[in-house]
Amino acid sequence: MRSGLVNSGKLPQNETMSSGVPDVSVVIPVHNEVESLPHLLEAIASALRASQLSYEIICVDDGSTDGSAQLLKEQAQRRSDLKAVILRRNYGQTAAMAAGFNYALSQVIVTLDADLQNDPADIPILLAKLEEGYDLVSGWRQNRQDGAMKRLLPSKIANWLIRSSTGVNIHDYGCSLKAYRAELVADMNLYGELHRFLPALAYIEGARITEMPVRHHARRFGRSKYGLWRTFRVLMDLLTILFMKRFLTRPMHVFGLLGLVSIVLGTALGIHLTWVKLATGENIGNRPLLFLAVLLLLTGVQLFCFGLLAELQMRTYHESQGRPIYRVREVVKNSDQ
Ligand code: UDP
Ligand code: MG
Repeated sequence: MRSGLVNSGKLPQNETMSSGVPDVSVVIPVHNEVESLPHLLEAIASALRASQLSYEIICVDDGSTDGSAQLLKEQAQRRSDLKAVILRRNYGQTAAMAAGFNYALSQVIVTLDADLQNDPADIPILLAKLEEGYDLVSGWRQNRQDGAMKRLLPSKIANWLIRSSTGVNIHDYGCSLKAYRAELVADMNLYGELHRFLPALAYIEGARITEMPVRHHARRFGRSKYGLWRTFRVLMDLLTILFMKRFLTRPMHVFGLLGLVSIVLGTALGIHLTWVKLATGENIGNRPLLFLAVLLLLTGVQLFCFGLLAELQMRTYHESQGRPIYRVREVVKNSDQ
């Protein structure tokens, strides 16, 4: 497996390191993991050295209070394979990962957790899979070693929801151990807790995605940073992603349609009430139907205007960043042309 990657030709061996660009950047968000870090760094170094890949480890300290930052700084001065990025405060795992991506030099990026729950020995296996022509290879913790609370309900439901609604058919969104092509990561903007939706975001960007079973270990040191509250945040992020996936470039199709339906219903009720008033002389001033008609009309107009504003926003979003609304995988042409 390992030699397959090394000999595949796409990731040249240590020669790239001479130009200062390693074969792979390993990005790790760190929040209060001081006991795990020394073991982690050693495990990554030995896994990647064994596969003869040049690498850099980028540890992003996300506002730790247990001395993790200090340890990382010392280690970064001592070893040439480690870059320590120290954030000013705790911004959350997504922001820490985004920071790591920004400092990564390689064409290939691997992410994993700092708590030794992911196994660095799996990195070369993911890289070999990436070389088969994928843009993202996601780890799948088939034998997940977390408490039942975490493993069963929230995670199963979240994974099922994400899988069925985004259309990206992988089992384990929550697994941090993933390998990506750097150009893919550069195309994605991360907000909120969106790191677990990276495969879905990548899918929106047209990436080729697959998964590989990986090992998973119980936490040896420290505590998990998340509780049940995370499920709610994941669900809210899922709604954002769904909206982005379906309607990012055409918000008027949602809001315009809803607005139109509302306006048509409101108008129909209004006409009906006017007819009742004129034809029968009946008093309509205190009828609930009148309130409904007014409510529908107002809501309809609001939704319509909101859709138009969203269209403007969307154009600003794409044009201000020079983001085209499509992604080209490759362009093939005859060299004579
Ligand atoms: N983490 C972080 N910032 C945070 C919370 C977590 O950088 O605000 C890091 C943490 O140090 C670990 C990874 O994100 O490397 C995953 O966190 P954790 O292991 O607590 O999550 P779990 O495995 O319980 O889902
Ligand atoms: Mg963990």
